[in-house]
Amino acid sequence: MAATLMEGEALAARIRAEVADDVRELGGMTLATVLVGDDPASHLYIGLKHRAAREAGIEPIDHRLPAETTQDELLELIAGLNADDRVDGILPQLPLPPQIDEAAIIRAVDPERDVDGLHPFNAGQLYLGRPTLVPATPLGIIALLDEYRVRLERARAVVVGRSDIVGKPVAHLLLQANATVAICHSRTADLAAETRRADVLVVAAGVPALVAADMVKPGAAVVDVGQNRTDAGLVGDVDSAAAEVAALLTPVPGGVGPLTIAMLLRNTVRAARFRRGSLAFPAA
Ligand code: NDP
Repeated sequence: MAATLMEGEALAARIRAEVADDVRELGGMTLATVLVGDDPASHLYIGLKHRAAREAGIEPIDHRLPAETTQDELLELIAGLNADDRVDGILPQLPLPPQIDEAAIIRAVDPERDVDGLHPFNAGQLYLGRPTLVPATPLGIIALLDEYRVRLERARAVVVGRSDIVGKPVAHLLLQANATVAICHSRTADLAAETRRADVLVVAAGVPALVAADMVKPGAAVVDVGQNRTDAGLVGDVDSAAAEVAALLTPVPGGVGPLTIAMLLRNTVRAARFRRGSLAFPAA
């Protein structure tokens, strides 16, 4: 029997509508984005983020810098945004050009306005189980699992991928939801043996068809985060034949993807609440 598809569009639209209500209630807000260089994918993502922000009533503040921008110039811009009281959220679009130390830029962003949730303070809060601002894609994954009533408590969850933006944070959110979590990566000895034990399998590796149908436990809920551009179009990390084995599976595109921007907007509302004092931001 074919798996039920966990579609993200409708849930994302609902979240964006809730965000729009919150933004109205708070009297508007702003999201500053910083794009360095000419990477076409980054330009596309920034365009999508701006459009979604505007639709929710969030005013984007658009900063674009040339590819040869130095680290000091970028740090100066970030410091200016941190000092600007009109700015609710700050988002340096990644990846940054090679002459810039990405970690230094992430560290420079005011943690209260770090809508990507990548600042070490926010990552630490997540590790400690006291989330403040959490990366958007992992929040979207948990929201989608919740929408489809996937039980996480007592479930064995396996995450394939250990990036700071998807794998590690989603593993922490699953742990917080009382799943028993394993994290796999490129040095995992027997990936198939690990994934076959997963009641909930989250795959974020960026490798087309990395997870074949026979690597999926019958009846599992499978979240395919992968977005790989191939000659056949956009494909995920999970082979489409897995739909015959899993009970629930996210489509690519149309699964996790739409939730990422919706959760970024929700993070912007959260950041605005922190700054305006209606939500307490924990001291460092
Ligand atoms: P990264 O490249 O930062 O991380 C990939 C992870 O996968 C690494 O931890 C790597 O292991 C692991 N990996 C790679 N190959 C294998 C393998 N053969 N077996 C097991 N593990 C492997 O990617 P991201 O986390 O940024 O993104 C992952 C995917 O998710 C990409 O396709 C990306 O496009 C997509 N994505 C989608 C989003 C959405 O909104 N839907 C948002 C963000 C990402 P190691 O650490 O050992 O190198």
